[in-house]
Amino acid sequence: MKEKARLEIERLRREIERHNFMYYVENSPEISDREFDGLMQRLIDLEAAHPEFRSQDSPTMKVGGAPVEGFARIRHETPMLSIEFVRTAEKLREFDGRARKKLGRAPSGWVVEPKIDGVAVSLRYERGVLVRGGTRGDGNEGDDITANLSAVRDIPLRLDPLGRAGQAPEVLEVRGEAYMTWAAFENLNLKLREAGEQAFANPRNSTAGTLKLLDSRTVAARKLSFAAHGTGSPVGERFGTYTEIREYFRNAGIPAASPAERCKDMEEVISLIGRREEERRNLPFPSDGIVIKADDLDERESIGFAPKYPRWAIAFKFDAEAAMSSILSVDFQVGQSGQVTPVANMESVELGGTVVSRASLHNFEMTDRKDIRRGDRVIVEKAGEIIPYVVRSIIELRSGDAEPLRPPDACTVCGGPLTPDEARIAVSCGNAGCPGRIKAQLRLYASRGAMDIEGLGDRLIDLLVDGGLARSPADLYALGAADFESLERMGPKSAAALVSAIEASKGRGLARLLFALGIQHVGAEAARKIAARFGSLAAVMSAGLSELEDAEAVGPVLAASVHDFFRDGGNRALVDRLASAGVAMGNEAPAAESEPGPLHGKTVVVTGRIEGHTRESIEDLLRGMGASVAGSVSGKTSFVLAGEDAGSKAEKARGMGIPVIGYEEFLTSWNPQKGQKP
Ligand SMILES: [Zn+2]
Repeated sequence: MKEKARLEIERLRREIERHNFMYYVENSPEISDREFDGLMQRLIDLEAAHPEFRSQDSPTMKVGGAPVEGFARIRHETPMLSIEFVRTAEKLREFDGRARKKLGRAPSGWVVEPKIDGVAVSLRYERGVLVRGGTRGDGNEGDDITANLSAVRDIPLRLDPLGRAGQAPEVLEVRGEAYMTWAAFENLNLKLREAGEQAFANPRNSTAGTLKLLDSRTVAARKLSFAAHGTGSPVGERFGTYTEIREYFRNAGIPAASPAERCKDMEEVISLIGRREEERRNLPFPSDGIVIKADDLDERESIGFAPKYPRWAIAFKFDAEAAMSSILSVDFQVGQSGQVTPVANMESVELGGTVVSRASLHNFEMTDRKDIRRGDRVIVEKAGEIIPYVVRSIIELRSGDAEPLRPPDACTVCGGPLTPDEARIAVSCGNAGCPGRIKAQLRLYASRGAMDIEGLGDRLIDLLVDGGLARSPADLYALGAADFESLERMGPKSAAALVSAIEASKGRGLARLLFALGIQHVGAEAARKIAARFGSLAAVMSAGLSELEDAEAVGPVLAASVHDFFRDGGNRALVDRLASAGVAMGNEAPAAESEPGPLHGKTVVVTGRIEGHTRESIEDLLRGMGASVAGSVSGKTSFVLAGEDAGSKAEKARGMGIPVIGYEEFLTSWNPQKGQKP
């Protein structure tokens, strides 16, 4: 009887391990979840009836054991080092250069894996059986969380259940990342909220929080995942390369970080970055970069270690930060040209240091192609200072009643008909008097980079348009203090301030006026170039298409757009009204005839906060001195002007040997007041 139970327990354990392997490693389960649960329950029952046959490596450990009082400390035989990270290709080349120097030749190859945003852990297998699992801690010593890691479904308790990896090493320390998929994270937060508990901010926090739990049954229920990315014990006797180690992991049932690929040199790695950045959006887990490791283990030894990092491995972090949120509702925003843009109102989420609750969905072609629906859980991203946007829906988490997004039947502001554009990407309201279009036009006109009318914000614009006080930017100049005082929450002082702000906007000059008009494709930079070339609005308006195309950096599309804009009677009337209101229609003097500034011919990139300046004002200052201002560092960059919190641009410039100077140094070298080098 007893012997029969022992045999059945043995058989069930092997069977369950095999199914775990087929499920987590091969991705091809042979039985249904329900059948699997049946096998597991039978094993739990048998072990309960025969406690003498209980074992640390039984798959029943996967459902969690008895709670523990606290964690013991464990010492890592080989320290668990963290890894250096960089953000530019130049830094990767420098890293490669150092490795070559150490090695005396180029490393024979690099393995690229996703950088998984989780918690680093170490698993110790002795003769193929998991005996201990711990956190990184300070690198030398961490917490013993064996029971919790045993409850992680894809961490095998016994290696190689199919018997195809060969004899297990005497000791194998597997290092890797415990993490939560977006889906597991979502389910956990859902349950926590239902229970009235605090939800986790991101999957890394929820993983760390879960591994610290004292009850491994809760750990089991939370469905953590694991991906190996290396070894901690010496394995050089058995393996020659990391690729071989990964192959062993695979056969032994240890999931390895994937997708992985091998590159022959660093240039090949660099050429992958763009694609990997795209692809990581579709990974089921959060990943903020890639990890690059020398493949050959002997080479790793020769390349060696820096005090804190291995010199044979490096992480490349992507720019954009991602977070998960849900689309609560969708607004349709009507732009100046009449184009309708869907904008998602989302559950507030922290992203890149700010709380985000709205994100652009760009257009209906995109929402259609990516199948983004109302109510969806979505991945939101923000790169640099750009407004956040929705990258994709997590379709696995979609509820049955999510509605596809359709363009509205009519303009949501004026009720006028909507017409699709030629490419059928966008729909637009064709009503020139649409209040939505007028409001968008006024918002641009008053904005900081355009006519910079201080105090004329979105709320005030809504009141002016809805109250019938303004139907075009030209109307602003006819408004008096009494008109503003008639508006809600507007005192005499702010009314007077507005009138003088509007008055001040008359002298902003041609470049800002061209931008403020909202000509399609004409951004602030293009407006400056056109202004510099033509000198007056009259000259721009009378210029032929070919003349416009000849202007520096004004391509045919832009030229046609400018040309068409001023052939329109309504636009010409607007310009006439602005001119008679006293708005300056030219540069003080055409740029071509002015004395070249001290920075003439230099291309400058600005990064970080410059004390006493807004981004616009420092760029204006530089341009006033004759410089061209560029948004990113390239071979053409003369120097980078770096303020506080200067980021990757300064780093990139240094990597390329381009001077990076602070504002103080800039003021000493170039005296902007005098406009010449002292
Ligand atoms: Zn409309």
